[in-house]
Amino acid sequence: MKRIAFFDTKPYDKTYFDLHKENSGLEFKYFESKLNPDTVGMTAGFDGVVAFVNDDINADVIDKLYDNGIRVIAMRCAGYNNVNFKSAYKKIHIVRVPAYSPYAVAEHTMAMLLTLNRKTHKAYNRTRDFNFSLSGLVGFDLHGKTVGIIGTGKIGKIFINICRGFGLNVIAYDPYPDKTIDIEYVSLKELCSHSDIISLHCPLSESTRHIINEETLGLMKEGVYIINTSRGALIDSEALLEAIKSEKVGGAALDVYEEETDLFFEDFSGEIVYDDVLSRLISMPNVLVTSHQAFLTKEALENIATTTIDNLKDFFDDKPLANEVCYNCNKNGSCKKEHKERCF
Ligand code: NAD
Repeated sequence: MKRIAFFDTKPYDKTYFDLHKENSGLEFKYFESKLNPDTVGMTAGFDGVVAFVNDDINADVIDKLYDNGIRVIAMRCAGYNNVNFKSAYKKIHIVRVPAYSPYAVAEHTMAMLLTLNRKTHKAYNRTRDFNFSLSGLVGFDLHGKTVGIIGTGKIGKIFINICRGFGLNVIAYDPYPDKTIDIEYVSLKELCSHSDIISLHCPLSESTRHIINEETLGLMKEGVYIINTSRGALIDSEALLEAIKSEKVGGAALDVYEEETDLFFEDFSGEIVYDDVLSRLISMPNVLVTSHQAFLTKEALENIATTTIDNLKDFFDDKPLANEVCYNCNKNGSCKKEHKERCF
């Protein structure tokens, strides 16, 4: 039986993977630690690895995994910016879960926007204390405002429909426009200058890193709201903090943060957190932070478990890998999957 090492595993992951364990023909070992240069040694004796968004799968980790006989990494997520694909190419196959529930992420995006705007998180705390004052809770109508969507893939498209349900005008920027949908595409500059709310739904890559920076923030309307449920490094956090302090940005809802790796998914409530930018952001009255939880629905966890297990079974059964991604897929899309419908 093939032995699989899971990293950064939480109780909710185990619940859904355990439901399908018996029929999988695989043996699971759950590690709570993240996969990184310090923990990669734990993979000795395993046949495959299951990793998540904040594991650090750099060149060094890839080499050690390879030396340990690992030939497949199953990402139990859609994004894969934390994997060094150049090092993995021709050594370790990387499979992922391309879509487990785009609804989960799009719905959380709207939940964050509504909370930030209507301040229900503050109202909840007040009324629990029998404080029924409304001062400081003024929001604005979403109806008639303009939301700019950066990235119109699976999640972006669903969020567009949700926004339209609220009567928002929607504009979008995507270098690869989807001609099948009815949406007004504009340049990034136009999106920045015309939007009351900007929501990020593109992947993190060299071309999108810090797409929200001092310059693009400077183009935006006074009081703009920024929502990021995609990847933290899409935003230059220090530039965002300055824009919040100067009141250029009226509110920010962040499910992801560029330096989240060592913090998110863990409880630091009894400790001192040394990330001054995050601490200052969290201290702002108009910033809402959730801990990379947009994906966290029952449906998504179920789909993540079943697709990850299928990906692993396909790998070990020498079958085509429909959900494989490689260096060439990422670099220029030149990968034709010509080797038994695998990347190599
Ligand atoms: P997708 O691949 O379906 O869509 C991404 C879109 O971004 C595509 O239309 C693509 O053309 C566009 N894009 C590429 N480069 C761009 C650029 N420079 N500027 C603007 N758009 C660009 O992906 P998806 O399933 O919609 O997911 C989007 C992102 O959401 C993922 O990359 C991931 O980082 C993030 N995500 C977050 C969570 C969470 O829990 N917070 C969960 C799942 C996914």
